[in-house]
Amino acid sequence: MASETQTRTSPAASSTTPAVRLEGVEKRYGDVVAVAGLDLEVRDGEFFSMLGPSGSGKTTTLRMIAGFELPTTGRILLHGEDVTRVPPFDRDVNTVFQDYALFPHMSVGQNVAYGLVVRKVPRDERGRRVTEALRMVRLEGYEARKPAQLSGGQRQRVALARALVNRPRVLLLDEPLGALDLKLREEMQIELKAIQQQVGITFIYVTHDQEEALTMSDRLAVFRDGRIEQLGTPAQVYEQPATRFVAGFVGTSNLLSGDVARQVLGRSGTFTIRPEKIRLAAPDAVAGDDETAAPGTIHDVVYLGPDTRYIVELAAGSRLVVTQQNLATTSSEALAQQGKAVRLVWKRQHELPVADGGSGMEEEVRS
Ligand code: ADP
Ligand code: MG
Repeated sequence: MASETQTRTSPAASSTTPAVRLEGVEKRYGDVVAVAGLDLEVRDGEFFSMLGPSGSGKTTTLRMIAGFELPTTGRILLHGEDVTRVPPFDRDVNTVFQDYALFPHMSVGQNVAYGLVVRKVPRDERGRRVTEALRMVRLEGYEARKPAQLSGGQRQRVALARALVNRPRVLLLDEPLGALDLKLREEMQIELKAIQQQVGITFIYVTHDQEEALTMSDRLAVFRDGRIEQLGTPAQVYEQPATRFVAGFVGTSNLLSGDVARQVLGRSGTFTIRPEKIRLAAPDAVAGDDETAAPGTIHDVVYLGPDTRYIVELAAGSRLVVTQQNLATTSSEALAQQGKAVRLVWKRQHELPVADGGSGMEEEVRS
């Protein structure tokens, strides 16, 4: 039997008590219902994301976990302990915000050491832990710099080091990469995930960016109007979206319903087909036994470098987005497809039934 000492490096070995548990949590501001009722468990050591559009209640949920807001009703447990009425500084959590909130007059080293100074950690240990935290975010040697002398990405790393240095059991991150440009954001996504795996701390990550949530998370919750619409692994949420809303928010909606579904698929209900699962074929192409084919016309072509996105108007009505890799296609060849008659072909197994939720997004084609 292993010793009883707490180890945070191996999520698989940690206890089954969830890191965070929300029970019937609601938050109202006067007439505004910010969080409409959440029951949620975040596992110890997992990278958990809350994904949803602006105003869906993600930040409010995070602030309640941190203790900056009190739920109107419900309970919040951290590692099995009810902390609903425990103030933020007595909770074993730290928060990283989008706007960094670094102290501008302090050096990087002082910024990172701040939480340790407040907690009266001895100077020697402080120095060691600051060095370790800065190494973790690949900023060793930057102790003496001021925040103004850093790039946006470096400032965000300092903010992360400043939280990690306290060794919280749960780290809350509210759109921490939102202010960075795309390339830097993509690099930081991979780095953040690596750091999380290295330290084994539970991360709760808020984002409105579906790609970010799919890339980084062990599991994610899709928020809508203060509720969770679906919770699962990235593959579950992407490949088996529970509702129209999830199908549209996580990926391109590509929905077929009503008469169009009956005509094209021979089935009733609402279905989504992911754009990368559809093949553009010649108008006279013959589909296999396990495939569905639908004639249509290419309405629009968007060349994206590695891929091209085709928006196809089906003869049955409705539009589908199709993405194809540009393995041997040039941009001019792709763009010349506009207006052409085609046949769309996909495997039946990729027709995913989704529940109707009246999201208002069903007609949307993002191009
Ligand atoms: P998200 O982070 O998903 O964008 P928020 O949690 O910030 O969403 O907000 C959820 C809803 O609660 C929004 O309608 C927002 O306007 C409202 N809200 C958030 N904070 C307050 C507040 N302090 N007072 C009044 N309404 C608020
Ligand atoms: Mg927010």
